Amino acid sequence: MKIPAVQRRYCPYCRKHTLHTVKIEKVRKTRRALSLGERKKRRRARGHGNHGKYSKRPISQRKRVVKNVHKVDLRLTCKECGKTRSMGLKRVSRVEIKAKRVFILVQMSVLRSLRFILPAYFANASAVLRGKYFGRTRMDGGLKLGDKDLLGPHKTREGFIGASLTAFVISVLQRSVLKRPEPLIGFLMGVGAMTGDALGSFIKRRIGVSPGGPLPVLDQIMFLIVAIAFVYPIYEVPLDRVLFLLIFTPAIHLAFNLIAYRLGLKEVRW
Ligand SMILES: [Zn+2]
Repeated sequence: MKIPAVQRRYCPYCRKHTLHTVKIEKVRKTRRALSLGERKKRRRARGHGNHGKYSKRPISQRKRVVKNVHKVDLRLTCKECGKTRSMGLKRVSRVEIKAKRVFILVQMSVLRSLRFILPAYFANASAVLRGKYFGRTRMDGGLKLGDKDLLGPHKTREGFIGASLTAFVISVLQRSVLKRPEPLIGFLMGVGAMTGDALGSFIKRRIGVSPGGPLPVLDQIMFLIVAIAFVYPIYEVPLDRVLFLLIFTPAIHLAFNLIAYRLGLKEVRW
C-alpha cells in the first residue's frame, strides 16, 4: 500500500482540514497473543465446534494460509499548528510512503490557489468583453473630481454587474463539480475584483494616466487584493495562497490581455 506523504486531513487542534505530513511511525511485527483466530483455533483443538459434521470441513483438515500482514501506525503532523498525532492503519502486507513531498505540496497549493481565484479571473476577463459589447452607463455617472473624471470611461455599470454575476456563475459551476467554494465567496470575489478594478481606475485618473493607459503592477494586482479583502470576512484566505497569487497573477493577467488584444477584443495590450 502506498501512502501519500502529504495529506489533507482533519486536525482536531485547528478544528479544520489542514495539510499533514505523514510518516510511518511503526510497523507492528506480530499479532496480539490471543487474537480472535487464535482463540477459535484453541477452542476447536479442545474439542468444541465443528468436527466435519456440517458443511465446513473440520479445522484439522482446513488449509492454513499464513497472511503476512502487519498493522501500521502512521504519524501525522499538522502543517499549520505543528502538532502530531498517530493514526492506525488497517492490516497491510507492505506499506510505503510516496516520495516527491515538496512537489506534491507545491502542486496542491498551486491548484488550490487557482481554483480559489478562478471566479475573480473570470470576472476580470468578462469585464473586458462586456465593457466592449454591452457597456452603456458610465460607473461614475459623468462625475468629475477637480477637472478630471472620477473613473475612466471604460468602467461601466453593466460591466460591473455582469462581471460580478459571471464570478457567481463560475463559483456555482465549480461548486457542482468540486464541492467548493461557496457561491457567496465567488460572488463577493467578483464584486471585490470589480471594485478593485474601479479603484485602480480612480487612482490612475488622480495621477493623470490616460483612460486605458497602463500603470504596471496596479493594473495586475489591484483587483486581486480587493477581491481577497472582500472574501476575507467569511473565509480566512491562507497567507501562502495570497503570496502565490500576488506573484503569479500579473503573469496570467498579462498573458490573457495579450491574447485578448491579438483577438481584437481589447484595444490595448495591457
Ligand atoms: Zn493543526
